[in-house]
Amino acid sequence: MTGSNNNKISPVKEVLTVCLTNGISFSGIIYGVNVKNKFKIKELEELLTAKKVRTTAMRLLVLKTLQKQKAAIGLQDLESVFEKADRITLYRTLKTFEEKGLIHSIVDGNGTTKYALCKEGCECAPKDMHVHFYCQNCRETFCLPKSKVPEVPLPEHFVPVETTLLVKGVCGKCSG
Ligand SMILES: [Zn+2]
Ligand SMILES: [Zn+2]
Ligand SMILES: [Zn+2]
Repeated sequence: MTGSNNNKISPVKEVLTVCLTNGISFSGIIYGVNVKNKFKIKELEELLTAKKVRTTAMRLLVLKTLQKQKAAIGLQDLESVFEKADRITLYRTLKTFEEKGLIHSIVDGNGTTKYALCKEGCECAPKDMHVHFYCQNCRETFCLPKSKVPEVPLPEHFVPVETTLLVKGVCGKCSG
């Protein structure tokens, strides 16, 4: 593709084509998101491909944003990162990621749904879900992948779909 080296803002598809064929990096404005830091597209693409998610510019950017987070992020916070992207597009992207096991959602201590990237070993299956921690001081929600949610004994004919365990308290950063 030509025109990859000028500073004009290219349409999303064109920008992507440049990146995908070269396997390197891009910077530009996509969906109103200013991508100042060049980043490696390839590993993000591979992550999507591994989970059978078709690559789009939006998905790459959302994935990149989620990767940067130290704690789980809510739709509202994500919206403030993607100033001009509409909420529905963001929400759909998150839903797709969740369905494909790329991220999982957590309802935090305030009843807000937050999303976290699935780390290695995060199966996100009901049997293998980890505990989450909500810090009442900084209001961040953390994944505790090493702490698995224990299996809860249920009455006969009760079929579990999901078991969640949220520990509330003060995180290491806030208590230290
Ligand atoms: Zn997960
Ligand atoms: Zn905290
Ligand atoms: Zn988690």
